[in-house]
Amino acid sequence: MIKEKIEKFYLARRKDRDRTYFYITEAGRCSRSIWYNFKKFPKKEKDARLMRVFENGDYTHMRIMSSLFSIGAVKAVEVALEEDIVHGRCDGIVVINNEPYVLELKSINSYGFKKLEAPKPEHIKQLMLYMHYFKIPKGIFIYENKDNQDLKEFHIDYDKEMAEKLIENFMILRHMVRENILPPVPPNIDEWECRFCDYFDECVKKRSDFLGRKLLEEKNQKSGINTQEIVEKVLEKEEEVIL
Ligand code: SF4
Repeated sequence: MIKEKIEKFYLARRKDRDRTYFYITEAGRCSRSIWYNFKKFPKKEKDARLMRVFENGDYTHMRIMSSLFSIGAVKAVEVALEEDIVHGRCDGIVVINNEPYVLELKSINSYGFKKLEAPKPEHIKQLMLYMHYFKIPKGIFIYENKDNQDLKEFHIDYDKEMAEKLIENFMILRHMVRENILPPVPPNIDEWECRFCDYFDECVKKRSDFLGRKLLEEKNQKSGINTQEIVEKVLEKEEEVIL
């Protein structure tokens, strides 16, 4: 009984806000999925359990920040960034040997933690934008293993070229949102990014690339639909870029 009420509480918190800017967490994400989000296409239902998993990540951050506070390393916490093109909130700014660093805390499962030898590319992109706008040339990641609280630490330096390219990409995407131009499927898109994408259903039916056809085939096999005819129509039509 109480379990159902908890589920409802989490589901009621899902909402998409109107916005004209990008979130820093979108740096490195598929631009097509961001476009769908701007246009408020219906999302795959997130279950309440997943939302509790995200919330658990917030508690991990609070716990690590509290230990950094105790050793006197924290200069600022949850620093907001509100530029015209991008908004975000970095986990903190820490000072080590009198030098400031932008800090990002991440939690990750045992499997990912074991394999992790460098920060994930999408995380580097996020931190790079904070470093750019805060004008702090150094950044630190702390990854925590969710299952046993082991830690790994990585340092990165500011890369002006990367930061400017990310901002330029956001500007191009904003133009595409305003002009109603659906971005193409990014080359070399990761199959798992598509499988977990909130807009999988909407995107896959408009795709004619090999991966898109494979995913559409699988999806329709699951629902018992013969996809051959649909695939042929998509191929005839080519990639639909303007809605
Ligand atoms: S399904 Fe893949 S290509 Fe399509 S929007 Fe999602 S991540 Fe991008």
